[in-house]
Amino acid sequence: MPLGEFELISRYFNRRSSRGDVVLGVGDDAALLQVPPGKLLVAATDTLVEGRHFLSGTAPEAIGHQALAVNLSDMAAMGAEPAWALMSLSTPVADERWLEGFAEGLYSLAERYDVALVGGDTVRGPLVVTIEVLGFVEPGLALRRDGACPGDALYVSGWPGEAAAGLEILKSAQSSSAADASLSEPQRGLVHRFLHPEPRVALGRALRGRATSAMDVSDGLLGDLAKLCAASQCGARVDLDRLPVSPALLAAAGQQRAESLLLQGGDDYELLFTLPPDRADELESVLGDTCPVHRLGTIEPDRGLRGARHGVEEKLPGAGFDHFA
Ligand SMILES: [Mg+2]
Repeated sequence: MPLGEFELISRYFNRRSSRGDVVLGVGDDAALLQVPPGKLLVAATDTLVEGRHFLSGTAPEAIGHQALAVNLSDMAAMGAEPAWALMSLSTPVADERWLEGFAEGLYSLAERYDVALVGGDTVRGPLVVTIEVLGFVEPGLALRRDGACPGDALYVSGWPGEAAAGLEILKSAQSSSAADASLSEPQRGLVHRFLHPEPRVALGRALRGRATSAMDVSDGLLGDLAKLCAASQCGARVDLDRLPVSPALLAAAGQQRAESLLLQGGDDYELLFTLPPDRADELESVLGDTCPVHRLGTIEPDRGLRGARHGVEEKLPGAGFDHFA
């Protein structure tokens, strides 16, 4: 007998949370939530569509993780404390094993960041997951895209490009699992980075009151940097000799391809941020305690993005696309 919507929600998506600010969670028409006095409510939503954001046949646990992780990444990019999530799930069949795996991926990440799922809706249809995350930040401390100033040092967290390399490996291996026996250990690491992005919540927290601007990298580093620069009405120089190419990415793709995956690949969910030049060195070591951070270049007054290698101007890959206009 197929599972009804009510039963499905209450069986898989009604785990108790320890948060005291959830006055009423899953089960009524809407949730009742207590926003801490003096804080701003921060809201973000993101949708994952099968075949577009994840490959068909992806493990349900990875889909559950990813759907929440991309939203937590937006919270991190705002310097917000994530608190609550709402989910809308469209699925072709109410397959209990799939739902169990999906809920596991979702909740194990949610519990790690103390996020309570406070509402859910399910519908029969193509596989699509929409999650909305709500969080808080002190007024005046939110990280925004529009605060970068000429002279600011430009940074990125972690190892961008690894997720895009992982996706390429999955596609060519015709497999949707990091456990594929034909993959080498470093290849599996890259696949894991694609399937299980880790939101940089701790870094976002540490950037509050320190960074002049921030955003998360979801659509490719250069494209997202262009958005940050447009919002801040400035441009940037990217030092190509400082790109943080990880050993695993280099081994999988070679130097040239690695650089283009790093600059243009998507799905990294790293943070791109700017620091005032006179405090950059000092802050770099503080921020480095949360996760690796890499200096990438400098914000400049002239609009557009430019590349340089050891001080000599060099064309950026993909120059000519509309995000360079
Ligand atoms: Mg974002």
